[in-house]
Amino acid sequence: MLINLSDVLSDQHKTVEETVPLTMKEVRMKSGTYPIVESEPVHVRVEHVRGKELLIYADTRLVTVIPCDRCLEDVRYEFVFDFTKHVDIGLSDAELTEELDESNFIDGYHLDVDKLLSNEILSGWPEKVLCRDECKGLCPVCGQNLNTGSCDCEDPGLDPRMSVVRDLFKNFKEV
Ligand SMILES: [Zn+2]
Ligand SMILES: [Zn+2]
Repeated sequence: MLINLSDVLSDQHKTVEETVPLTMKEVRMKSGTYPIVESEPVHVRVEHVRGKELLIYADTRLVTVIPCDRCLEDVRYEFVFDFTKHVDIGLSDAELTEELDESNFIDGYHLDVDKLLSNEILSGWPEKVLCRDECKGLCPVCGQNLNTGSCDCEDPGLDPRMSVVRDLFKNFKEV
């Protein structure tokens, strides 16, 4: 969704304030594509500072789905945004691109709300997401989700009780 900035860029420098829907339906990253399953309209206010400098305020909330780092189950992950950005569109294109973190969300007289938000999503993306703190993950042998059931695979490396038995056995052999 584009917001027209001509009012704030005109000589009157009238503040532009709009609430627009997010049109982006997914987050594309190197690691994959993640659906946006809920999003609130994005509230944006653009104020003139001086010259070609603008202050952009934006707030919204959206929910995306990210697989659990251990068991791969879908986890709803909520982003709550409330940020301010200072931009100087008087800079040359090259300077602007650098200033805006390589993603130019202002194109001529338009602010691209999806691009603005996707920058924020990417920089706020969590390193890992767990379905719950105590997620047991998947059995490394058979792939069974250990939160929903157990399996008969033996994995002495992960079971502390087994390692006690193993150590006893080892000591016994050494004697
Ligand atoms: Zn999990
Ligand atoms: Zn197993």
